[in-house]
Amino acid sequence: MKKLFVELEKDPRETRVALIPSDAKKLISAGWTVCVEKDAGLNAGFSDKEYEDAGAQIVGSEFAKEADFVVSIRKPSEESIKGYKSGSFHLSLLDPFNEKQTLKAFADANVTAASFEMIPRSTIAQKMDVLSSQSNLAGYCAVIRAAGLSNKIMPMMMTPAGTISPLKFFIIGVGVAGLQAIATAKRLGARVEAFDTRPVVEEQVKSLGAKFVKIDLGQTGQTAQGYAKELTAEQIEMQRKAMAKVCAQADVVITTAKLFGRKAPLLVTAEMVAGMKPNSVIVDMATAGGGNVEGSVADETVISANGVKIVGDTCLEAQVPATASQMYSANVVNFIGHFTKDGNFAVDMEDPIMKSCVVVKEGRIDDPRFQ
Ligand code: NAD
Repeated sequence: MKKLFVELEKDPRETRVALIPSDAKKLISAGWTVCVEKDAGLNAGFSDKEYEDAGAQIVGSEFAKEADFVVSIRKPSEESIKGYKSGSFHLSLLDPFNEKQTLKAFADANVTAASFEMIPRSTIAQKMDVLSSQSNLAGYCAVIRAAGLSNKIMPMMMTPAGTISPLKFFIIGVGVAGLQAIATAKRLGARVEAFDTRPVVEEQVKSLGAKFVKIDLGQTGQTAQGYAKELTAEQIEMQRKAMAKVCAQADVVITTAKLFGRKAPLLVTAEMVAGMKPNSVIVDMATAGGGNVEGSVADETVISANGVKIVGDTCLEAQVPATASQMYSANVVNFIGHFTKDGNFAVDMEDPIMKSCVVVKEGRIDDPRFQ
């Protein structure tokens, strides 16, 4: 019987857990022995007792040396990778473009490591796409955070005490997070405008009842994987100029613009922030990749000289850890299920999904991007 180990997240900012009790139960029924590090689910609202009731065992961190499959959310430390069993399999968000030392530690420990970020954007892989499940929640959380920081209400209200205008949102970057941010802001009654360099997005923005801001940047588009292409310096400048007016009128600006595997583009300059209204709010959802907003600080909320609150949380979805863990955990179970043949989990490198996400295989890092 194969042993699966759920690690306790060591990053103090992390509140999620990689596998929830009901999914532990599913894996146990499928023949796994599930061992959960003590208190792994506590911050997400899942007690050790709930895991035990589901049939899992509560263990210490040293259990890693016995496990065939280790799952976590964030990358494990190089020290803990040294304690992994040779020949085992690890799955988490490994940030492989930036964490080459971690990958080397996996190779040295002869562990096969799969990175959730590298799951392809295909229909069949959607059920195990952690970037989508977590970005979706992050988009929701960005709006809730902005609403909490704003000194005004979101919806329009017509009352005997007068008419209150709705809050104006401007969402920059309409991928998974941006679409959820639009939908959430609309549900709460805001007036929403949005922009993305991928022209296909316009219809999606309109279908959510928001206005698409038209900016002619010449040739833009998307890669075969569905990600935005990088703009030229001139195009970025044109974009900033056009967006400055929209930002100046907005109460809330949410930026989600990322370029997969590369630094995020700087889209809102300090000058544009200076042109915004006092007490307006910016949520920069790209701070982990360098940020879309000049002056934003990762995991901090700063206030500009003119009183604009700039939120730089790198993991907004950690604010809803029960839901975020539930979705991450479902992605994990779907991943394991997809690669289980005749009751056994197999690392099938002929499969395009496995081939894409395995970044270290039996001590080797073959992809030059990660060496
Ligand atoms: P992302 O997180 O890489 O980027 C967020 C958004 O920022 C994207 O929409 C991108 O176009 C935009 N952006 C980049 N540069 C910009 C700029 N200069 N100005 C304005 N916007 C800019 O993207 P994502 O949310 O992961 O999704 C990208 C696409 O992939 C979407 O179309 C999404 O629907 C698609 N997708 C498909 C699948 C699937 O088929 N399994 C899964 C997830 C996402």
